[in-house]
Amino acid sequence: MNYKVQGLNKEDKELLDKGELLPVMEDFYTIQGEGFNTGKAAYFIRIGGCDVGCHWCDVKESWDASIHPLVKVSDVVQKVVESKAKAVVITGGEPLQYNLDYITEAFKSKGIETYIETSGAYPLSGYWDWICLSPKKTMPPLNEVFAVAHELKIIVYNKNDFEWAQEQASKVSSSCYLYLQPEWSKRESMTPVIVDFVKEHQNWMVSLQTHKYMNIP
Ligand code: SF4
Repeated sequence: MNYKVQGLNKEDKELLDKGELLPVMEDFYTIQGEGFNTGKAAYFIRIGGCDVGCHWCDVKESWDASIHPLVKVSDVVQKVVESKAKAVVITGGEPLQYNLDYITEAFKSKGIETYIETSGAYPLSGYWDWICLSPKKTMPPLNEVFAVAHELKIIVYNKNDFEWAQEQASKVSSSCYLYLQPEWSKRESMTPVIVDFVKEHQNWMVSLQTHKYMNIP
């Protein structure tokens, strides 16, 4: 595994390796605000730990996995079942630093759809109904993740990102949906530029962080 969780005892390390324990930063039932599944109710599980290092990251408190409690996955699954959510979004941090086979099997056995948001920088684990790949320049995705992504979501921070977005799009399958999303702090300047780009390149679509406009998590 690729996680960097400090100070683990042997038993916790074994359970973390199996994916039966995970450092959960937060979990909440809300609406998926962005990308293909925008507007759908979904239970979010944010796993701590990320070394991708995006300078504009809006969840930097997720980076150090060691400050987030190690939680029994069976307890999280029970919370999701009780919420009656029909889909979970596993996000981070970078969730693929961990073995996600156990948690996704558990959700699937309960009939709950499994979605992931990942940079694709680590090998894929888990069983997924929807893979949203959001590549980052600092740690590019592995080819194995490009191949299976259902959705490619490029965060646009400045005008140089369009050429890079096209390069990323050349690596996904022909059925993969392509989205351009303004980085939140740049939304006023970059949204009109994205709109113009999508009008000229109709294989792309606009994604907005609608949860932020709705003031929900
Ligand atoms: S991959 Fe995600 S969590 Fe990690 S630094 Fe980038 S935006 Fe933040």
